[in-house]
Amino acid sequence: MAVKVIPDQCIGCTACVNVCPFGAIIMQDGKAFITEACTACGACIDVCPVGAIIREDEGPKAVAADKGSYKGVWVFIEQVEGQARGVGIELLGQARQLADQMKEEVAAVLIGDKVEHLAADLFASGADKVYLVEGPEYALYSTDGYTIAFADLIETYKPSVILMGATNDGRDLGPRVACRVQTGLTADCTGLSIDEQTGLVAWTRPAFGGNIMATILCPDHRPQMGTIRPKVFKKPEPDATRTGEIVRVASKVKADDIRTKLVDILRVCTASCNLEEAEIIVSGGRGMCKPENFAMIEELADVLGGAVGASRAAVDAGWKQALHQVGQTGKTVGPKIYFAFGISGAIQHLAGMSSSDIIIAVNKDADAPIFKMADYGIVGDAMEILPILTEEFKKIKQA
Ligand SMILES: Cc1cc2nc3c(=O)[nH]c(=O)nc-3n(C[C@H](O)[C@H](O)[C@H](O)COP(=O)(O)OP(=O)(O)OC[C@H]3O[C@@H](n4cnc5c(N)ncnc54)[C@H](O)[C@@H]3O)c2cc1C
Repeated sequence: MAVKVIPDQCIGCTACVNVCPFGAIIMQDGKAFITEACTACGACIDVCPVGAIIREDEGPKAVAADKGSYKGVWVFIEQVEGQARGVGIELLGQARQLADQMKEEVAAVLIGDKVEHLAADLFASGADKVYLVEGPEYALYSTDGYTIAFADLIETYKPSVILMGATNDGRDLGPRVACRVQTGLTADCTGLSIDEQTGLVAWTRPAFGGNIMATILCPDHRPQMGTIRPKVFKKPEPDATRTGEIVRVASKVKADDIRTKLVDILRVCTASCNLEEAEIIVSGGRGMCKPENFAMIEELADVLGGAVGASRAAVDAGWKQALHQVGQTGKTVGPKIYFAFGISGAIQHLAGMSSSDIIIAVNKDADAPIFKMADYGIVGDAMEILPILTEEFKKIKQA
């Protein structure tokens, strides 16, 4: 969907040139001219005082929703082999807060095979209702199957807001569903609130490589959708006395609808890189000095039954795979205990782990910023301290 200038209408004011974030508009013979650097973001359209810039070939416009008919805050409950992922429960807590402010109800969307047993926990965590779509066709996540089921639920029950975890599956499903129902989606959010002026959900996310925080509204279309990073929010305290309504919805998916066929599941990394769910994380940074030294981090993580984390410096150096990276451009984690060995505590690293319950830092520089955040700190050489800690924890485990 390209953007074009209507030369006859252009008054050469250069407002568009100044506002273009990509430097894609130049002046030619006193008129604006759009170059190939244009990403069709539309900033110029909004600023043009004479309406001389338009979108070409817009096709049929998505019809702005009849907003009043959309009600309720929904949370997609991601489950794997009948176990709900933590992020769904975290988001139910947030959904409850949003819904209370909006004076609407919270519903959990549960799609899977034989997953009804999860409903009680969803009610306990804040859901008033569970939309349950069950069938063998949903035993494993598939883009096609889940999109059809989810879009059908939206069209039938018309929610106002949908929260999904920014997991691999959530990041896959969210945009597909948003496109299907022609609404807006803010991806990978780290903050949620209600915008006071408009009453809309204010979705906040890092943008431009994490250098600015953008708060985004979806004023005209429904539902308002977003994916939210795991572990940004704490799980709500479950209330076992809460109950709710299960709404069973028949599957609309036929076998042929699912175009991807699962050939095999390769478990390349199990406990050690499951950072989002881990209760203990042992992380290493550039202060681990060389990749072989990460074996000590892995051993301590193994003894404690925890996962292995890494700073971006360690990942960039090729010492650990990117799926271990903690921080603004890595994973956001919130374990009970976070060990930081040879990590300085740069703001971008802290952004991913500061909600850990207890932070233990080991660094040979007593002035390293990580000590400002740490609950316990040891000033010393990580390579000397790691084996001692590992031995001590082994003894405690054997006792
Ligand atoms: C847009 C952007 C996004 C970013 N995203 C992330 C992110 O997601 N995650 C992330 O981690 N970083 C991220 N960074 C990078 C971040 O700014 C830091 O560069 C990075 O966190 C530094 O990693 P580090 O602490 O391992 O290394 P350093 O800052 O080099 O610190 C190494 C530390 O080890 C200590 N040390 C050295 N030797 C020893 C030893 N023998 N024993 C004990 N301590 C020792 C040193 O005193 C030092 O404090 C991002 C940066 C930008 C600009």
